[in-house]
Amino acid sequence: MTNPRVQKAMELINEQEAIDFLRDLIAINSVNPPGAEAAVAEVIQSHLARAGLRAEVDEVLPGRSNVLAELTGVAAENKDQRVLVFSGHLDTVPTGNIPWKHDPFGGERVGNKMYGRGTTDMKGGVAAMVLAMEYLHRAGIKLQGTLRFAGTAGEEVDCLGAKAVAARGQVDDATAMVISEPSSNRPFIAHKGALWLDIVTYGKTAHGSMPEQGVNAITAMARFIHELESYSFTYEHHALLGSPTMNVGVIQGGVKTNVVPDQCSLMLDIRTVPGQVHATIVDELKQLLISVCEPLGAQCEIRVANDLPAVTTDAQHPFIALSQGTMQHLWGTEEPVSGVNYYTDGSIYGPHLQVPILICGPGEPTLAHQPDEWIDTERYLDSIRFYLTLAAAYLGIEEQ
Ligand SMILES: [Zn+2]
Repeated sequence: MTNPRVQKAMELINEQEAIDFLRDLIAINSVNPPGAEAAVAEVIQSHLARAGLRAEVDEVLPGRSNVLAELTGVAAENKDQRVLVFSGHLDTVPTGNIPWKHDPFGGERVGNKMYGRGTTDMKGGVAAMVLAMEYLHRAGIKLQGTLRFAGTAGEEVDCLGAKAVAARGQVDDATAMVISEPSSNRPFIAHKGALWLDIVTYGKTAHGSMPEQGVNAITAMARFIHELESYSFTYEHHALLGSPTMNVGVIQGGVKTNVVPDQCSLMLDIRTVPGQVHATIVDELKQLLISVCEPLGAQCEIRVANDLPAVTTDAQHPFIALSQGTMQHLWGTEEPVSGVNYYTDGSIYGPHLQVPILICGPGEPTLAHQPDEWIDTERYLDSIRFYLTLAAAYLGIEEQ
């Protein structure tokens, strides 16, 4: 049975209001790069202000801001109070080269679908968390523990917002966290790590008619790519995430047909599973690279462009069980936990906090980064109900 106060908060959920708020967020272009998340943070701040809640826009870099808001628990003085952190990123990926049928910043609604860049990944999740907080407040609910929202800049490139939140100690007291990345409202408890490497081979230029006078940097890189095919990771198969992967994403080199190229660069995207040590992978690949470059007389370099560890929470953790129980209570469905391949700000928070992290948001994982990205509006409203009920159940309600 739903607590009558929570029921009251649920009844405040207004579809039009929720859709309008999401549309306001979609209308702001926060494509990263450059991000420009400050404008999104300010819209969230003024929305919460209208509901009588104070939010802090916290600048990370000029034009790049996080936003933080809180429903302080009545037990906040108590060091053992529970602190639930809701987090989501405010930036989006670019709209891409494929033309959209719907305006990426229009928030057009067709039936139960609302279109726009960031509807799924993840302004839908962000809006739902902000609204859950607002409805709890408007229903006059006093939580025992503290509910905090952290909207972050920069997740799509380098997680600079989450890094600032961690460095500034803004979630150090967290005891549990929910990240509203797209999961179709299913409970994800693990995601892969990301290790992006920029690799460069250096040769010696010469006239293309006399290649023996030079050292061909592209040849060196080609041999390295060939060797990568037989490279095998050291890892333990993960029950939810399976095996690590590697993708050669970009290769660049050479200037003209008749010039021996003296430089070739490669961008490698490695996705790891829990237990893999990224530094070891970098060392092994460095050895492999040197072993192909040396015999050719080429030089080489590996630079780490992105280094985010995998995230995993024990499926038996009480917070995960409570989340699943809340889903069952609301929707009557038994939702098994699973893992995802994409990474989240959880990579920054996870090692820093050591708390259970649930990844659960209303967006559709397969639509992230796609043209004509959309969100199911029913799922969006359901996620507000979920966040609101979970916060009340986990943090406890002060009986008045
Ligand atoms: Zn995302």
